[in-house]
Amino acid sequence: MDCIRIVDLEIYANHGLLKEENTLGQKFLISANLYLDTRKAGICDDMELSVDYNEVCHLIYDYVKDNTFGLIETVSEELAEEILISFPILEKVDVEVKKPWAPIGLPLSYVSVDITRGWHTAYLSIGSNMGEKEKNLTGAISELSKDMLIRVCKQSQFITTKPYGNEDQEDFLNGVLEIKTLYTPEELLDKIHDVERMFGRVRDVHWGPRTLDLDIIMYDHLVMKSERLTIPHADMQNREFVLKPLAEISSQLVHPVFKKTVGQMLMEVQA
Ligand code: ATP
Ligand code: MG
Ligand code: MG
Repeated sequence: MDCIRIVDLEIYANHGLLKEENTLGQKFLISANLYLDTRKAGICDDMELSVDYNEVCHLIYDYVKDNTFGLIETVSEELAEEILISFPILEKVDVEVKKPWAPIGLPLSYVSVDITRGWHTAYLSIGSNMGEKEKNLTGAISELSKDMLIRVCKQSQFITTKPYGNEDQEDFLNGVLEIKTLYTPEELLDKIHDVERMFGRVRDVHWGPRTLDLDIIMYDHLVMKSERLTIPHADMQNREFVLKPLAEISSQLVHPVFKKTVGQMLMEVQA
């Protein structure tokens, strides 16, 4: 991917675990690789289509100067997030924080932390079959949108579907969202659980009635299985109530294990 590099921006700031570091301060050198598609800006010679590195440098300067953290791990983590949130055109950023005067009593060029952070594309299914179903869904979507680490990019129509697994309950209202997020999969799971709780979700009967169910259907092309999380969602290929709204917003999306598009999987469950 195209990249704009900022190298060794010098900033006198107060990060460190020692009290002296927080009061006296020292020199930090910050580098950032900004990843974006510069093709259009390059052809049109138009700054509006790129990122203004002058603005990014000043944001870095102010952020590193105005905050005090113990660890340079935190400086880089917070700075990467701040840059990605402030400049939506960026897809990914590498941030390196160098500390040339690290007080270790030995000569060294510098000690540094170098991280890469970026937006991930995830698909969430959203469903409700209790209370004011549509209000629950739209309320949950607006709650997700309030989070700076989530951007809701696409939203399917809501469809009414028959209950799945446990059939003796009210019809569901279901939909799918495409989001961009800075959360890891586990953090995203925590976030959707928070939103479910906010809308009164109680986990008693598995596949039972619920005010709100938010599931992670896909996360980039990631394939993972842990105690808490299976991605892609283990049953997505068998669920018309997931595949139909998903096909509406992204029918060409490919399942990373079955290597089938959402459109193909939908045709198969409907056959
Ligand atoms: P189903 O997952 O079959 O749709 P459900 O959504 O009703 O069932 P929940 O009670 O919402 O099930 O979730 C049970 C647990 O499933 C969660 O606590 C979570 O740890 C786990 N889980 C595993 N994979 C996922 C995933 N991709 N998305 C959401 N939860 C998941
Ligand atoms: Mg579910
Ligand atoms: Mg669930």
